[in-house]
Amino acid sequence: MKVIVRYGIYPLVLAIGISFHYLLFENHFELQFAIYLPVIVGAVMIVCLERKYPHREEWWADKQEIVQDGLFMALIQGVFPKLLTVSVVWILLQVFYGHRLNVEGWWPTHWPVPLQMLLMMVVADGFRYWLHRWAHEWDPLWRFHAVHHSPHKLYWLNVGRFHPIDKGLQVFLDTFPFLLVGVGEEVLGLYVVCYAINGFFQHCNIDLRFGMLNYVISGPELHRWHHSMITQESNHNYGNNLIIWDLVFGTWYLPKGRNVQELGLLNRKYPSGFLEQIRAPFSPNADKHRVSL
Ligand SMILES: [Zn+2]
Repeated sequence: MKVIVRYGIYPLVLAIGISFHYLLFENHFELQFAIYLPVIVGAVMIVCLERKYPHREEWWADKQEIVQDGLFMALIQGVFPKLLTVSVVWILLQVFYGHRLNVEGWWPTHWPVPLQMLLMMVVADGFRYWLHRWAHEWDPLWRFHAVHHSPHKLYWLNVGRFHPIDKGLQVFLDTFPFLLVGVGEEVLGLYVVCYAINGFFQHCNIDLRFGMLNYVISGPELHRWHHSMITQESNHNYGNNLIIWDLVFGTWYLPKGRNVQELGLLNRKYPSGFLEQIRAPFSPNADKHRVSL
């Protein structure tokens, strides 16, 4: 695989996704359409690249895994956050009806959209960093987050595998605060496109390189260590889109000259089906024990 392809794939696919989103948005297509079409195009490109330039062929997913991960993607990443948002907005309306919430000046709406999006990403990633870190260090939260760490291989669709409780907490931190302070739909749209394509890359099975971007973006080279079966390795690289908070708080990790070994949970019998994983956090000792060096 040529060096230029290895380093160029991520910026190129992200640039295509963002440009396509802008094209649709500027031409007054419906916002959901202007978000999801570029994300789907990004996903298709990543699927093709995984087949052409795999990081590890043994990480290619089988049919059953694709079906299960597809269920998580559709229900937990697609339907669930929307239902949650509608419910929370409805509850807030009941509570605050008649009380004007003055959010004027809380968000720099006069800034250019890309700068607003970057600000949102830095702040949202700060919230998500601590949620993710507590999910690894505090057992009650780990029970739910363990679902995301259950696969023994990484490929793009793994990004959707979250327990709804875990996903709900994420939405409370990376979506609601920004809706409340009045972030515009053009900023949210751009954020979702970058968030989704970056998430696919973070979990992808493409033999690519990030180089110096490993000090800015939370990409696959870093995130594979986050999925290591060894706790001392996986308790690093918590960044969602950016890796800057790991650098600030000392959890950035990228060993030189070796690859990550086994991925997943110590309990190799942890269930893998959709419904079994929804139930797993409520059963005792589903994954209480994690392996140490
Ligand atoms: Zn994690």
